[in-house]
Amino acid sequence: MAYRIPFNRPLAGARAVKYLSEACGEGHLSGDGRFTRQCHEWLESRICVGKALLTTSGTSALDMAAILAGLKAGDEVIMPSFTFSSSANAMVLRGAIPVFVDIREDTLNIDERLIEAAVTPKTRAIMVVHYAGVACEMDAIMAIANRHGIAVIEDAAQAIQSSYKGRPLGSIGQTAALSFHETKNIIAGEGGALLINDPAVIEKAEIIREKGTNRTAFARGEIQKYTWVDLGSSYLPSELISAFLWSQLEIADDLTAQRLSLWNRYHEHFVEVERDGLLRRPVVPDNVTANGHIYYLLLPDQAKRDALISALRAEGINAVFHYIPLHSAPAGRRFGRAVGDLARTDDLSARLVRLPLWVGLGDGIDEVADVVKRVLRS
Ligand SMILES: *Cc1c(COP(=O)(O)O)cnc(C)c1O
Repeated sequence: MAYRIPFNRPLAGARAVKYLSEACGEGHLSGDGRFTRQCHEWLESRICVGKALLTTSGTSALDMAAILAGLKAGDEVIMPSFTFSSSANAMVLRGAIPVFVDIREDTLNIDERLIEAAVTPKTRAIMVVHYAGVACEMDAIMAIANRHGIAVIEDAAQAIQSSYKGRPLGSIGQTAALSFHETKNIIAGEGGALLINDPAVIEKAEIIREKGTNRTAFARGEIQKYTWVDLGSSYLPSELISAFLWSQLEIADDLTAQRLSLWNRYHEHFVEVERDGLLRRPVVPDNVTANGHIYYLLLPDQAKRDALISALRAEGINAVFHYIPLHSAPAGRRFGRAVGDLARTDDLSARLVRLPLWVGLGDGIDEVADVVKRVLRS
């Protein structure tokens, strides 16, 4: 069914067409051409990371992060259960075990106070997920990781242009993954990036991304011929993807500002219904800057959440929910382990609804908010 107000409408305008057509004319369609280099430079300078490598998706960036972390069968990675399958899948593909801990009531991010109790001699990494582009409590998390000598991988798929105490998300852990999937803030259809803050693994990352060969060093003229040197796969996107991505990175500040303004408009709308106890609005702590990625509401119970989604759809507005917690999903039960009962994860995910939010939605925000308020007050 086609909705009057869809949940997402990806931006793909004249600027993207212009760069795609330039890429087509340049005689270089495979990866690591001019547009890819421009994207790398933008990400490195704006996110303050030593190295950025575009990938074919956020998922493949997480896969690369898992290989780089040197995970082996039986190793454990602590992570939230309230996340997308890719965060856990990347670890399971290395034979590692996702160890799920509960989330915080306010930000829905991993509860840093529960992490240390989940550490065992097999723990190799903590995977944080900055849900809705709102930072996890990184100071506490990095301190735990340093105390135990384990790595931190940031799933920053939703968090481009967000920050924690002034530091860009993606620049704090050893590695981080961004996503440019069409539902994210900055898009390329499908696409992603691996961000590397540990200089010691940059060369290894280039090899993993180029089918296990040292072709990247060869392309820089550092070696005479290239060959198969280590584990790897094909994780680099074509110039067509990079050209499209460049059309968005170039105006990223504007796109983020527009999203934040739409997000704030929703937030204003729901002040009174929150005061009257009909819902809870998202929480953004004082020490973080968010990017307006997701606007969600928490309803009092699952029945009210489901009824709201139905009522919105009946009015031609597509609202959605996520995630089925990984610890209760079929693959999560098979491959992972939960620490504690994860009661907040179960409770919050059952009461959450995401409202449409995309650049160009404009007055649609007021329309959606009015329906929500009418339904909740009826
Ligand atoms: C979108 C997303 C991913 C996966 O990114 P893709 O580019 O779709 O592969 C991973 N983790 C989180 C938290 C995401 O939101």
